[in-house]
Amino acid sequence: MPERRCPAHKMRCMSTPDLQISTHLIHHPYQPPEGFVAPQPPVHKASTVIFENVAAMRRRQWLDKSSYTYGLHGTPTTFLLEERLSALEGGLQCLLVPSGLAAIATTSLALLRTGDEMLLPDNAYGPNKTLSEGELAHFGVRHQCYDAMDVAGLEAKITPKTRLVWLEAPGSVTMEFPDLIAMVRLCRARGITTVLDNTWGAGLAFNPFDLLGDGSHSLGVDATVHALTKYPSGGGDVLMGSIITRDQALHMRIKLAHMRLGLGVGGNDTEAVLRSLPSIALRYHAQDRAARELARWLQQQPAVVQVLHPALEGAPGHENWKALCGAAGGGEGVAAGLFSVVIDPRHGQQAVDRFCDSLRLFKIGYSWGGPISLVVPYELPSMRSCPTPQLRSGTVVRFAIGLEAVQDLRADLEQALAAAFA
Ligand SMILES: *Cc1c(COP(=O)(O)O)cnc(C)c1O
Repeated sequence: MPERRCPAHKMRCMSTPDLQISTHLIHHPYQPPEGFVAPQPPVHKASTVIFENVAAMRRRQWLDKSSYTYGLHGTPTTFLLEERLSALEGGLQCLLVPSGLAAIATTSLALLRTGDEMLLPDNAYGPNKTLSEGELAHFGVRHQCYDAMDVAGLEAKITPKTRLVWLEAPGSVTMEFPDLIAMVRLCRARGITTVLDNTWGAGLAFNPFDLLGDGSHSLGVDATVHALTKYPSGGGDVLMGSIITRDQALHMRIKLAHMRLGLGVGGNDTEAVLRSLPSIALRYHAQDRAARELARWLQQQPAVVQVLHPALEGAPGHENWKALCGAAGGGEGVAAGLFSVVIDPRHGQQAVDRFCDSLRLFKIGYSWGGPISLVVPYELPSMRSCPTPQLRSGTVVRFAIGLEAVQDLRADLEQALAAAFA
């Protein structure tokens, strides 16, 4: 490389004229003035974090947010998101992981040992079950599924080896809302750790760490996992998850596993979630209103034999939803923009597929919480091990409501129902 001197008009460059340009570009002395303040926080990105001197490096500690050690253990950007998410969900400590599923996996790996047993709701997020049947079973952790609508049934499945009970409110796809208060009370009395997949509630429908809602925190889950991929991201463009706790000892157990597993998130993705977070409540409530309007309208359609939305009278677990989420939202209660319908079994699988394919605004795809409305058909029998008397038989179709105008979505459903089931 030919030697290039710094341009003479750049006065600061002249302070180190003996450096080659490649070195000079890396060790350039210019510092922008402090005091730049803007609505959005800066994006800090790092693997390497630079220490002032060797003593500072030796003093490094990664167990709290008092300093920086390595990109994997946090940057100003990730610390900021962790603190805001803790506030959202009513917790005190937060860990970020690369997906919602990574939050589930990290938590189970941190809390379970060979010989331990774990209980999962039968309507849990599918990959939580698959992980239990795969890696956790290989490591000698046994799991059983419990009927999320049966507190006594959960109690009957607890053994002296049960260490962890997973909770979901409502359950995935079929949306049954469990009696979370009774289940957490039961597990507390037995000294069993409870972890709630709080993706649906998102910190907005109820406070998982204060289930009695009186600010006492006398009854709450021990930890939550949250697929930030959904509402906090809000764009359908970021994968991320969080693990939130209120107990420092529990946080440290999970944090040590998190460190040993080498989990981290990127600065740009973190910034994308920080950018969407201020509008989460507006988006959540708008999607709730639109979803309830469409769910009620679908209740009147002849091809639909059941609408599974916990805020609708008569839906499985409606009373439990009402007890936990019913008082907020000016008496209307609060729910996410997600619901399913059961299609009359006289319409076969082909007709249901034709219905999904006929939708124009609703796109076929997984996930939710973004601007685009989504639809997915599910074959329930292959997904469940407990009997489901609360559900009518027929193909389940799940809708995730986006941010389109509700009358356009209704018209889209109307034309697809006519095209498939006429
Ligand atoms: C989407 C989802 C997850 C997983 O999140 P990813 O970021 O897609 O891994 C976990 N739990 C629930 C309830 C979800 O809906």
